[in-house]
Amino acid sequence: MRIRRWKSKRRMITGLILAMSLAISACSSGQGQDNAVDGDKIHVVTTIAQIAEPMSVIGGDRVVVDSLMGPGVDPHLYNATQGDIAKLESSDIVLYSGLHLEANMVRVFEEIGKNKPVLALSESIPEDQRLKDETGATDPHVWFDIDLWKQALESGTEELKQYAPEDADYFEANKVKYFAELDALKTEASEKLGQIPAEKRVLVTAHDAFGYFGRMHDIQVVGLQGLSTEAEIGLSDIEDTIRILMEHQVPAVFVESSINPSSINAVIEGAQKEGLQVREGGNLYSDAMGDAGTEQGTYIGMYRHNVDTIYTALSKGSE
Ligand SMILES: [Zn+2]
Repeated sequence: MRIRRWKSKRRMITGLILAMSLAISACSSGQGQDNAVDGDKIHVVTTIAQIAEPMSVIGGDRVVVDSLMGPGVDPHLYNATQGDIAKLESSDIVLYSGLHLEANMVRVFEEIGKNKPVLALSESIPEDQRLKDETGATDPHVWFDIDLWKQALESGTEELKQYAPEDADYFEANKVKYFAELDALKTEASEKLGQIPAEKRVLVTAHDAFGYFGRMHDIQVVGLQGLSTEAEIGLSDIEDTIRILMEHQVPAVFVESSINPSSINAVIEGAQKEGLQVREGGNLYSDAMGDAGTEQGTYIGMYRHNVDTIYTALSKGSE
């Protein structure tokens, strides 16, 4: 959903935003105004780092990109801090994922969108390519389909080009180069995951973040929780998951960096009581990435880490 287009910058905080900022959670990262943004660069503010890091590659030295949600942060439950509101207010462009991922920030985006371009990148993806669950809810974890994420990043790139037409060729060249790396990543991931024996191709995680990943790489995905972490996990979810593990003799299940591991541990314990040797297969990045400045703080590094972790845990356990 494109909320509104407006070319002006640095508007005053509206009453509504102010009221919302007072009503929201305690400020953990708010330093008031953003620090040291170069005056002549385009200041892009994003929610998740899966948008921020690729956009900083595509924007190159013409942009400064700020991600509101750092490592370990769960976007489904995230509330904007006062510091976030200040960053959004002083930004030139806001890019978020959408499809209800940042569920508690929708009204903030609507308000900010009255004054500047605010764009939900995942909502640029055609309806018929989106995954839906059995209730009809759209799966927002689009970044796990590399081709679809390219489409999302393409719409972000178009936004940069419209904002700074004089730099359009530069953004385009950076994008083409980066997309070639994403194509290579897709090939690498498909080749590796394709080696997991057919009967072990079951990915069990705490919440249902890997639907697009499973579709792209032909892996059955089981999430204890639904598409959002807002839902409760019931005993029957745990029992159903254990049944699937037994049926496929799945060797490993996975924890997520942004989710409490207790429910996955309950699955491991339950399966072990039933006599299945299942273990924790490692840590996956689902809704958050690793620390900025590390390999896993990049989209490509994050994806590769997940592929390697899944490959190692599911194929090794098959002996
Ligand atoms: Zn999620």
